[in-house]
Amino acid sequence: MRELGIGLIGTGFMGRAHALAFRNVSAVFELPLKLNLAALADADPQRARHCADAWGFATAHSDWQQLIDDPKVNLIAITTPNHLHYPMAMAALAAGKAVYCEKPLAVSLEQASAMREAARSAGVVTRVGYNYQHNPMIVLARELIKNGELGEIISFQGEFSEDFMADPTSPWSWRCDPNHAGGALADLGSHLLSMARYLIGEVEAVCADTQTVHSQRPESPGSTVLKPIAIDDQVHALLRFANGARGTFSSSWLKHGYKNHLSFEISGTRGTLAFDQERLNELRLFRAGQDGFQRLLAGPNLPGYAAFSPAPGHQLGYNELKTLEVHDLIMALAGDSRGGTDFEQAWAVERLATAIRLAAREQRWVRIEEV
Ligand code: NAD
Repeated sequence: MRELGIGLIGTGFMGRAHALAFRNVSAVFELPLKLNLAALADADPQRARHCADAWGFATAHSDWQQLIDDPKVNLIAITTPNHLHYPMAMAALAAGKAVYCEKPLAVSLEQASAMREAARSAGVVTRVGYNYQHNPMIVLARELIKNGELGEIISFQGEFSEDFMADPTSPWSWRCDPNHAGGALADLGSHLLSMARYLIGEVEAVCADTQTVHSQRPESPGSTVLKPIAIDDQVHALLRFANGARGTFSSSWLKHGYKNHLSFEISGTRGTLAFDQERLNELRLFRAGQDGFQRLLAGPNLPGYAAFSPAPGHQLGYNELKTLEVHDLIMALAGDSRGGTDFEQAWAVERLATAIRLAAREQRWVRIEEV
């Protein structure tokens, strides 16, 4: 069996999630490739060594370029802050290696466009970490929509809110720097834009409003020195889809009480479908004529669920979605692509986010083809 050498960059929240997925995927699925956890890199050499040992990677690097140059590495997984996606992915593509990059693709549309071009020229498999789409319940939602269960789709109401920045004394981090990230829209909203495209299709035009609510934050935990903040804490937008559906979109990292509220209600001429990532094993479906919403619960009738458990209602979690995403990636690397989010799709998400920022800045409707 052909071997696939994995090189993982970053050991934070997502570094661990990727490591778990790469370790678990061969226990869950029969894979056409044999995975070799070849190398791990982190800017902190001690952390790189520690995580390589603990997570089962053969080699540790503090210089990510060395990981990319390592001949044993065929696939580069990038889990670093957003501004590093561009240099790391471009170097990986220049070396002809496949790339699995965390979302959002980049910090500007210019960077995203260059990455898309480089991926096209390299002709390698790329994937971006829009993991929520790999939820079997979301795959089911898409099928229900495609099969016409809701009739003609007329409305998408989507929200992705969390509260991890709700405390105004939460310190500055790379997520607050416009050159390193891009606010709630980039951090959370990009997931929802990707989801809206996956479920409903292309967006044609947007109007929007963005707001920085807390314009300064402590420069480090507990510090009395305050740093100015210029990125969006919350964003609200109206969406017009190419298929005629209308939508609302909002995202905030200040919304008290919400921990992972990626949610939507999709209505058609014959029904409504509702989802909330905080209850990721459920969909609520209303068909015209019913007395109330029907609760659909994840079970082994869905292939993505059956891979983990033969028992209904035992529930998948966030890390299982990452394993499903890695499975999609490995199948694509083995020549059996099932249409996951590659650099083309992720570029379209960046274009949409850029249109939302432009619409908010100029306080007008923006057609996506303008950007
Ligand atoms: P984090 O701060 O927890 O981790 C970042 C890691 O990158 C750290 O280990 C840090 O040491 C490392 N790093 C920084 N500079 C480096 C360099 N020059 N070379 C090597 N390593 C370096 O951040 P996070 O929360 O894991 O976020 C990382 C990425 O994952 C971001 O792009 C974020 O948007 C994305 N993310 C995605 C999801 C999702 O659901 N898909 C969730 C959270 C974060």
